[in-house]
Formats: sequence, C-alpha cells, structure tokens
Amino acid sequence: MPHKIKEQRIECPHCGHHIRVALDASAGDQDYYDECPACCREMHLNLHIDEYRQKIQLAVASDDE
Ligand SMILES: [Zn+2]
Repeated sequence: MPHKIKEQRIECPHCGHHIRVALDASAGDQDYYDECPACCREMHLNLHIDEYRQKIQLAVASDDE
C-alpha cells in the first residue's frame, strides 16, 4: 500500500481556530489527541479510513462534557 499523507484543515472545537493536520491514510483508523496552537486546549481527533470509497473521515470533538 502506498504511503498516503493527506493534509486537511480542521477547526478547533474550543476557539474556532483553523489548523492544518497531516493525516496518514496508510496507518488505518486512528483516535488521538492534539493540542490547539491557539488556545492550547486538547482536541479529540477521530480518523476513519473508508477504503471502499478511498475517503478519509475526520471527526473533531472537544471532549468537554
Ligand atoms: Zn483552539
């Protein structure tokens, strides 16, 4: 499988800051946390690879509740 890095723009769920993230589609589904460079709060990123449609689905949540 070729190494696929796709860049996607996301919005911080806390402050609305736009961030560019590099997604590695060859690594499969991922669930991780990243820190917003603007407000320094944690974002929960959930990456799902749809192999059938060759698409990357990225969900960003604040995990605040
Ligand atoms: Zn932020």
